[in-house]
Amino acid sequence: MTTTTPNDDQDRSQEAPIRQASRLSTDTLHADRRAGVEHGGIHKPIHTSVQYGFERVEDLIGVFQGSLKGGFNYARQGTPTTAALEAKITALEQGLGTISFATGMAAITATLLTLLRAGDHIVSSRYVFGNTNSLLDSLEGLGIAVSKVDAGSAAAVEAALRPETRLVFVETIANPGTQVPDLEAIGALCRARGIVYVVDNTITSPALFQPRSVGASLVINSLTKTIAGHGDALGGAVTDTGLFDWSSYPNIFPAYRKGDARQWGLQQIRKKGLRDMGGTLASDAAHRISVGAETLALRVQRSSATALTLARWLQAHPKIGAVFYPGLKSHPQHELAGRLFKASSWLLSFELRDPASLVAVLDRLRLPVKATGLGDTRSLIIPVAPTIFWEAGAAVRAEMGIADGMIRLSVGLEEAQDLIGDFEQALA
Ligand SMILES: *Cc1c(COP(=O)(O)O)cnc(C)c1O
Repeated sequence: MTTTTPNDDQDRSQEAPIRQASRLSTDTLHADRRAGVEHGGIHKPIHTSVQYGFERVEDLIGVFQGSLKGGFNYARQGTPTTAALEAKITALEQGLGTISFATGMAAITATLLTLLRAGDHIVSSRYVFGNTNSLLDSLEGLGIAVSKVDAGSAAAVEAALRPETRLVFVETIANPGTQVPDLEAIGALCRARGIVYVVDNTITSPALFQPRSVGASLVINSLTKTIAGHGDALGGAVTDTGLFDWSSYPNIFPAYRKGDARQWGLQQIRKKGLRDMGGTLASDAAHRISVGAETLALRVQRSSATALTLARWLQAHPKIGAVFYPGLKSHPQHELAGRLFKASSWLLSFELRDPASLVAVLDRLRLPVKATGLGDTRSLIIPVAPTIFWEAGAAVRAEMGIADGMIRLSVGLEEAQDLIGDFEQALA
């Protein structure tokens, strides 16, 4: 927990020590209790109060001026429940501090809008979440230039850099094509050029990969997906890894150029991006996400193992064309993914050899839920071209390698043999 997210139980302004990956579940499970919960509760309670009152007006003033650590003032800027979740995400990502938001998109929007100004330039992977891609187009309307490149090559990122490039944005495993950027080399490039490196870790989650290890400055997680895991809460977060030198960043407002320079970026995102833009995570959702996070490692291990089994099975099936999954030897970034990620995640896509059979095959499936969304305990399946990439149009689909017969599968916790049996009958 950081100075920017005070906690009501105790002053946790001290930076959390860098945690070994082996303590991932242990630390998440015991985080609330160790921070001190009233009555010995083992979960942080769901704090619903909007206002926080003080006996002494000096304390109210102290909260506003940042001198009173551990104080809250108005729930749009966070509650003890969201702060407890933020502390867990910080530990999971081995970061310096975290800010939570109502959704993953709110976290990405707040981060980009508060760190960028008209005249700036950013480089993004062209393979990013569809709504992020759409948001990047909105930035162009605000005078922020965006270059979309194939980030599988750090040289392509480097070639796109300009003197006014402020930020590089990538995702660990892209949806639906499962492309993996050259994460380490891009990290080294950003570090050498003093550019903010934003890595969206949603698909891998900190259970499989910590972007800090490749030099990320900021890590985005849509908490809705892998971390909450049960399809019952929306949330997003941005975590500062502590690796970026904010004292060299030109877009920090004078009000936030105070105190420890490592906190400047988060301070600005919290004040401008959370307080002013108002995409605040509700305590109720923060609680459900926290409970989901307790089983993160276990769930991801299981769903990733099932995804690999299914990917291999689909690859061998005569009615299936290409299968996109980093755990397969045929994947262009198989070696890189194997080296960086503990597993290749629960996301895979594949193409039917006969696109005309798309609707019939999907309608015969009984187990995967025909729905959009990712990272649920239940497997979710969707035909990509006529749904999530419909608005993008045929030209963009072709550019992004999305065939008409492409199907995206978010693998859940069902037994692998049951899923294979279902695909067997649907493809028969
Ligand atoms: C879903 C998703 C988001 C957006 O998250 P929401 O919580 O749905 O707003 C951002 N990035 C990636 C990679 C995603 O999969």
